[in-house]
Amino acid sequence: MPSFQAKTPSANAVPAAQYDAIIIGAGMSGMYQLYRLRLLGMSVRVFESGGDVGGTWYWNRYPGARFDSESYSYGYSFSEELLKEWEWQEHFSAQPETLRYLNFVADKFDLRSDIEFNCRVAKAAYDEALNCWTIDMDGGGRARARFLITAIGPLSASTMPNIDGVDSFQGAAFHTSAWPHEPVDFANKRVAVIGTGATAVQLIPEVAKTVGHLTVFQRRPNYCTPLHNRPIDDETQSGIKAGYAEIFEKCAKSYGGFIHDVDRRKALEVSPEEREAFFEKLYGEPGFGLWMGNFRDILVDQDANDTITQFVRRKIGERVTDPDVAEKLTPRDHGFGTRRVPMETGYYETYNQDNVLLVDINDSPIKRITPQGIETSDTRYEFDIIIYATGFDAITGAFDRIDIRGPGGQSLKEKWADGPKTYLGLQIEGFPNLLTLVGPHNAATFCNIPRCIEQNVDWVTDLMRYMKDNGVSRIVPTAQAQDEWTAHVHDSAARLLFTKVDSWFMGINSNLPGRQKRRFLLYAGGAPAYREKCNDVAANGYEGFEFG
Ligand SMILES: Cc1cc2nc3c(=O)[nH]c(=O)nc-3n(C[C@H](O)[C@H](O)[C@H](O)COP(=O)(O)OP(=O)(O)OC[C@H]3O[C@@H](n4cnc5c(N)ncnc54)[C@H](O)[C@@H]3O)c2cc1C
Repeated sequence: MPSFQAKTPSANAVPAAQYDAIIIGAGMSGMYQLYRLRLLGMSVRVFESGGDVGGTWYWNRYPGARFDSESYSYGYSFSEELLKEWEWQEHFSAQPETLRYLNFVADKFDLRSDIEFNCRVAKAAYDEALNCWTIDMDGGGRARARFLITAIGPLSASTMPNIDGVDSFQGAAFHTSAWPHEPVDFANKRVAVIGTGATAVQLIPEVAKTVGHLTVFQRRPNYCTPLHNRPIDDETQSGIKAGYAEIFEKCAKSYGGFIHDVDRRKALEVSPEEREAFFEKLYGEPGFGLWMGNFRDILVDQDANDTITQFVRRKIGERVTDPDVAEKLTPRDHGFGTRRVPMETGYYETYNQDNVLLVDINDSPIKRITPQGIETSDTRYEFDIIIYATGFDAITGAFDRIDIRGPGGQSLKEKWADGPKTYLGLQIEGFPNLLTLVGPHNAATFCNIPRCIEQNVDWVTDLMRYMKDNGVSRIVPTAQAQDEWTAHVHDSAARLLFTKVDSWFMGINSNLPGRQKRRFLLYAGGAPAYREKCNDVAANGYEGFEFG
């Protein structure tokens, strides 16, 4: 087989370690890609800015952090042995257990020997003459490879709110995605949480269990629905282990890679009583059923969506004692499911506690963070701890934080300034040999993510094998293939109601300059259609790509 090693650069070049492939990121994606490419006999090095494996589950250690995916549907499916050996303890595992799982995987397959930790990739540049990528690390260090594979995460570039005085606060302050490794004590403390997205909805009830006083600053409420987590008993454990093949098959057939799949009926086809009973059933069941397993038109038809929206609004009103607080917690500017649905455990009841206060920052905007706390237009609050649950620059943020340059120095960030353009969400015209796992326009962005990660990685691995077998070492999509895929991404999303709403699904982040215009980031055509398209492309000799 021909080698993938890049040609040797001239003698006066900066020395760089050389590999067949470099992977950036050691989360679920990077770990599995490393495992697969090593089996192909390629030399591979992973560069990870964190101190260990796990990605999302390494960084997000805040109290309450856990899956919204069923644990047994989230783990890797590629190894029978791993499936036999690992036992999930809860239906929706908490972060410590998931991190233990990923450490177990890293140990089992000896992944760490090919990973460099505490190593942030700052730059990546493609050299046309050598047909290779050179990466430069923050604080020095350089490496080179024929292929560059990004596994940098859809939700890994955290954002802080755009508020004056953040650095002036004299108490303790934490962003949820950079939570300390030691426990934080909230007893007798005055704590502020800024943000009410999926992370905050997990965090707030946990903090409220022991806090002295908690103040939540909310800009926009979400429709949160019950997780109904519980431990996995022995009988269920045996059923899961015996039923993995069916679980993964069910996920493979479903729109979003979950064990929940849409009901084939339309919402207005059934009687109001039948609809109500169905919503009640889903609301009482674990996981994303109300969002992913509902009538097939609730996310595309406004009248259908109104039925479930009214139902969830009513539930909020029933669970929050104070009608004014309930009203503040009820979204009025979008319908259910058109933004990320946070899963909750006692979230609404938290606001019935005497020591919990909800501040709507539309009524009293935050003016600044002060050394003692937070000043709004009408009140000065004093705090011991401020928690920023302000989320991420989703999907493209981690790309923008690396200076990625194609031939002739073309910047990827500039190329994507008006929104990403890709082929299959896996490659970009003008950027040869750059492969983007869980990148924009990839089904993994709207999926029970590991199910789509495995598809992405397997596809990239098959491509590597194909290129070796055919003696080619350069691949890049044609402009036409990219234009067609990008248009398809827009078309398949356009029918969904979420495209008419501002949220991170549409690339909106009010904390970041340049993130106020809606952009198409997700592939909403469904995981099965995406997989079929990727398979067809491969079966047709990787149509849409040019090899060299
Ligand atoms: C709190 C939370 C809960 C979630 N729950 C679910 C869930 O229930 N179900 C679900 O499907 N998905 C969930 N997700 C999404 C989750 O991100 C994915 O499931 C999955 O972990 C993504 O894996 P990944 O390897 O692609 O990315 P990540 O896990 O984000 O890993 C990317 C890694 O790349 C590293 N990196 C990034 N840039 C650089 C750089 N320049 N140099 C070096 N290293 C870099 C990061 O440090 C990180 O370790 C959740 C996300 C969050 C934040």
